[in-house]
Amino acid sequence: MASLMLLHRKLRTTRSFHFHVRVRSFSEKIEKIVIANRGEIACRIMRTAKRLGIRTVAIYSDADKDSLHVHSADEAIRIGPPPPRLSYLNAPSILDAAIRSGAQAIHPGYGFLSESADFAQLCEDKGLTFIGPPASAIRDMGDKSASKRIMGAAGVPLVPGYHGSEQDIDKMKFEADKIGYPILIKPTHGGGGKGMRIVHTPDEFVESFLASQREAAASFGVNTILLEKYITRPRHIEVQIFGDKHGNVLHLYERDCSVQRRHQKIIEEAPAPNISSDFRAHLGQTAVSAAKAVNYYNAGTVEFIVDTVSGQFYFMEMNTRLQVEHPVTEMIVGQDLVEWQIHVANGEALPLSQSQVPISGHAFEARIYAENVPKGFLPATGVLHHYRVPVSSTVRVETGVKEGDTVSMHYDPMIAKLVVHGENRDAALIKLKDCLSKFQVAGLPTNINFLQNLANHRAFGNGNVETHFIDNHKEDLFVDTTNSVSAKEAYSAARLSASFVAACLIEKEHVILARNTPEGNSLLPVWYASPPFRVHHHAKRTMELEWDNEYGTGSSDVLKLTITYQPDGRYLIETEENGSPVSEVKATYVEDDHFKVEADGVSNSINLACYTKEQIRHIHIWQGSSHHYFREKLGLELSEDEESQYKPKFETSANPPGTVVAPMAGLVVKVLVKNKSKVEEGHPVLVLEAMKMEHVVMAPSSGYVHGLQAIVGEQVSDGSILFSVKDQ
Ligand code: ADP
Ligand code: ADP
Ligand code: MG
Repeated sequence: MASLMLLHRKLRTTRSFHFHVRVRSFSEKIEKIVIANRGEIACRIMRTAKRLGIRTVAIYSDADKDSLHVHSADEAIRIGPPPPRLSYLNAPSILDAAIRSGAQAIHPGYGFLSESADFAQLCEDKGLTFIGPPASAIRDMGDKSASKRIMGAAGVPLVPGYHGSEQDIDKMKFEADKIGYPILIKPTHGGGGKGMRIVHTPDEFVESFLASQREAAASFGVNTILLEKYITRPRHIEVQIFGDKHGNVLHLYERDCSVQRRHQKIIEEAPAPNISSDFRAHLGQTAVSAAKAVNYYNAGTVEFIVDTVSGQFYFMEMNTRLQVEHPVTEMIVGQDLVEWQIHVANGEALPLSQSQVPISGHAFEARIYAENVPKGFLPATGVLHHYRVPVSSTVRVETGVKEGDTVSMHYDPMIAKLVVHGENRDAALIKLKDCLSKFQVAGLPTNINFLQNLANHRAFGNGNVETHFIDNHKEDLFVDTTNSVSAKEAYSAARLSASFVAACLIEKEHVILARNTPEGNSLLPVWYASPPFRVHHHAKRTMELEWDNEYGTGSSDVLKLTITYQPDGRYLIETEENGSPVSEVKATYVEDDHFKVEADGVSNSINLACYTKEQIRHIHIWQGSSHHYFREKLGLELSEDEESQYKPKFETSANPPGTVVAPMAGLVVKVLVKNKSKVEEGHPVLVLEAMKMEHVVMAPSSGYVHGLQAIVGEQVSDGSILFSVKDQ
């Protein structure tokens, strides 16, 4: 009975359902698709499906009940609680949902089950079309060593290395010496750069090899290793390929994905800059040969590593799915790859031949992440209190969230992908910069300012990209606020923004006040008359805004502003320091979060977002290409006691020295030491996991561990105290 009730409840969550394993007739085309994914990719797949008249079924975990992908679908089915292994990785639950919905096909998106050969096979066994490659190709390409053996046999160039099954350490060392140092050690079943180690000299080999084996066993359950020559100045260039079930394969040119942090791409572009058309043609043909070697059909990506010193390129791996960055390819070939995927899954031939796909213009994709850039790009969580994206016919914003949504710790921290197209690279880059400045997020830290720094960098402008780009240019990309000229400039820009904020906030207060008085509405026209009429104006006010430069040292400055009303409706704004400039600002409230400000004869359009949390008002201001973020303590609501306790947010002196706090919200997955144990500086103490990444929390100094209470499986919030290290 209980199970019947459960079933009944489950059924009510779908709007229509059928109870049988579908056996499809051969001519039957896809009319309904289950999207076994979430977020932007689920929304993106639905968009194409809808255009083709195909009905869509979303699946969701409890964390995503009200998310955009659920609202965008024709039907939605709950598949489990938030942790991915219980929901988006739960194959039986997803298959069950698919069968109940009566869909003929499953699109796996990317990530989650998209590269599971077993899942692809299970779909086919249940009579559901897997919109992707054959399970056999997924299996062949899932093992980096096996895939290299197949590719080598097919004549695809490989990085010099050892991909054999003999794994004893003497043999490995012998092979390493033969290849020559530096060497890269890679787990054969790895992903996300985990367990990879660079070895510079022969005497470091044994230790690194054993460590890599241990990490591989812990992360992937298989400890086999492959060795490769380490390319010191590489570019990551990948080729989009497409095949059908009739043996046709073509390529849709390449994407350059060299700009990476933590081995993850953040800006991609198509076509790759600064390569010759011969090189492009050679890459494309090689990728097609690679796909043919595994009887590939549907969408796939062949990743190459390009040695910028020798000009050689080598096969790195093949991703057997639609990639995150596929839109840049769509922009330059004018095709919809999800539509192609559906046609191929239906058994149709590719719609075009190689010579029918020219390149048109240039495209960039920037990945907007909820992350804490100064903390080393750690994922961040929070509420999207304010969310505005640029809109234009040559711009695509792929997003899975809406204003008010929460970016939780369960899934990937990507908020959106900003994709722009221009007739050439320069034109596309101008658009990218413009759109980044119009991309407004408040409520959690993002990488938008960092992406702006990247897009504005001269080397990026010249297309001189390589995988160490961020590291090579870190002095320019992470502006040091302590001593540079740019720090001074940043500070005075912040001060001007602060004066705009003050003028706008006070102006809006008065507009609202005027509207809320009994005669409010009738006062409004008077409000904007010249000279304007003012209600409840005090002669003078002060405001304290705390400002932190996003790429600074983590410290923050408090800007003390004195605001004096002028009879002509302007605000005279002074900051406290000696010799600081005085601004005279006229602020006009336009609507919503939009203002006009005039200062020194220049008129600016401004957007302001504010929200209050724990007695602190968070204020974001966007103006031209700049964005500033301030915090204001709400002085009126604080008692004197509270006032004296108020600390600027980033001041860490509140905790005694040696205290270690969680650098991000996450789940404790390992606790490696016990209280009172002796640790050396840098010794791993516990491992946190959030949003697909693991973060090792280390001892900040040598000493003894105290106060460690975290247990495996516990969730910790950002900034909570984990333990401390003391001298004894
Ligand atoms: P993953 O499965 O983690 O994506 P890859 O084999 O694709 O592993 O490598 C990830 C990244 O590591 C590449 O994008 C590149 O930046 C770097 N890399 C891989 N192989 C080499 C190599 N032989 N030399 C230098 N860098 C490499
Ligand atoms: P809390 O832990 O109180 O939520 P966060 O550090 O997560 O604080 O930040 C919350 C607010 O801070 C959000 O408004 C987010 O947009 C913003 N944010 C934090 N740091 C920055 C920064 N340096 N620049 C811009 N916005 C930021
Ligand atoms: Mg890779």
